Amino acid sequence: MPALSTTTVIGVIGAGAMGAGIAQVAAQAGHAVILHDNQPGAAKAGIDSIRRQLEKRVAKGKMTQGGVDNIIARLQPADVIDALADSRLVIEAIVENLDIKRQVFAQLEAMCAPDTLLASNTSSLSITSIAANLERPERLAGLHFFNPAPVMKLVEVVSGLATTTEVAETLFDTASAWGKVAVHASSTPGFIVNRVARPFYAEGLRLLQEGASDAATLDALLRQAGGFRMGPFELMDLIGHDVNYAVTRSVFDAYYGDTRFEPSLVQQALVEAGRLGRKSGQGFFDYAGESAAKPQPNFAAPASTQLPTLVAQGADSTIAPLLERAQEAGLEVVRRESLQLDGTPRLYIGDLALALSDGRCAAERAVNEGLEALVLFDLCLDYRSASAIGLAASHTTSPEARQLATALFQRLGMDVVWLTDTPGLVVLRTVAMLANEAADAVLQGVCSAKDGDLAMQAGVNYPRGPLTWADSLGLPFVHRTLTHLQQSYGEERYRSSFLLRRNALSEASFHE
Ligand code: NAD
Repeated sequence: MPALSTTTVIGVIGAGAMGAGIAQVAAQAGHAVILHDNQPGAAKAGIDSIRRQLEKRVAKGKMTQGGVDNIIARLQPADVIDALADSRLVIEAIVENLDIKRQVFAQLEAMCAPDTLLASNTSSLSITSIAANLERPERLAGLHFFNPAPVMKLVEVVSGLATTTEVAETLFDTASAWGKVAVHASSTPGFIVNRVARPFYAEGLRLLQEGASDAATLDALLRQAGGFRMGPFELMDLIGHDVNYAVTRSVFDAYYGDTRFEPSLVQQALVEAGRLGRKSGQGFFDYAGESAAKPQPNFAAPASTQLPTLVAQGADSTIAPLLERAQEAGLEVVRRESLQLDGTPRLYIGDLALALSDGRCAAERAVNEGLEALVLFDLCLDYRSASAIGLAASHTTSPEARQLATALFQRLGMDVVWLTDTPGLVVLRTVAMLANEAADAVLQGVCSAKDGDLAMQAGVNYPRGPLTWADSLGLPFVHRTLTHLQQSYGEERYRSSFLLRRNALSEASFHE
């Protein structure tokens, strides 16, 4: 289906943060837009705020005043809903309340043409439920923009049970024509992004609760080793703990208490204390006053130990870039092809063995593999460019052997973080759980693998789609990591998605 022509009128209801942003997007794309809010004067105030935002761009030389005037001329405020009668598409962005949204759509249905498209920007309500009482529920879909709508690229086009393919495709093509990255999702709790992103926060909160490290250090690892734009703690502080906790609770309740979505007592305590993050001046970090300094990550002090030859046994595609980096740093590297009995590659410096985490803690692997000195290292998005790495040692590893490991990674130019001996460490555990959640969303028909990846990259700026990331690591490895996590904790929370398991067993990838 073609996108809606720019000669058609778009109606937007609700002139708050989202409605004003969506109205701006549609007007920038060339549509005449009627912006309605039931608070007298709010729609006009919304358009004034759009003008102020656009004029900031003029001041920066990114837009002309004439361009701003043209966009503003296409926006018309309305204090009464009847003004929307001639719209070709009406996008609702009012208060997040099912009954009120239903009433508004019933009013729209009574006054608009039978083929007017109806869309809701709801973050958490069921599209099926919003449409249930309409005479023509097939013309309603979710059009989920992200905040701020003019900036964030992603739009989830959400189909309820009754939404027709034609309606979903027209909205998809229209959002694309407005310069957005559109993805299809079926109406299930959290849609794609608010569901698949849950482990990013949840695993961070658990790692903190279990004392793996402190918040600033865990953030640094996810940024510097994982390649994420922000760590989970600074991001939750930005979003607001009240909002982030409420989304987690709503997804947890909607999935009937599935422990994968279990809210964190650590975050609950912050909400109870009123430490909501940046907006309240304190969350995990302190933002009050000029003097509030963010705590520094806890990196290991420089180690000046001499480094003997690095012996690599069975370097696979994950480890190979690390070895190349070691060679470029002037280290002597010897490669042996033979693998361990369990097929995992290992590095040795003297008597110290180093291995990529596989979801078991170092103590367990040291016992199973008969190693006295064992250091596990964490996953990096790219071992060639990562600027930090997380390590954990078995209890039997001597302080001297730890110093060797510190010296090795520091020699490669990486900040070294010593974590307590935690299953899956930080980046690997987070990425495995993100991929697992995305796999379940695909298995349950919420989205395609392609759209799942696209949504996480365009909606929350992930450095790589979680499913593409899992494919590149090898699905048997990701499945094994999750199984080890499940065994380590004895918790269903870490169970592998059946799709991940089946793909791992059948040597398939998510993107075939
Ligand atoms: P907001 O409180 O900033 O704005 C809501 C506006 O709707 C207010 O101006 C209010 O006066 C108006 N309104 C309320 N009831 C109305 C009615 N019956 N008729 C007309 N106008 C009415 O809220 P927001 O943050 O813009 O959120 C709006 C919707 O977008 C919600 O469904 C929310 O879940 C969703 N959403 C919010 C975000 C976000 O980050 N804020 C992101 C994505 C989606």
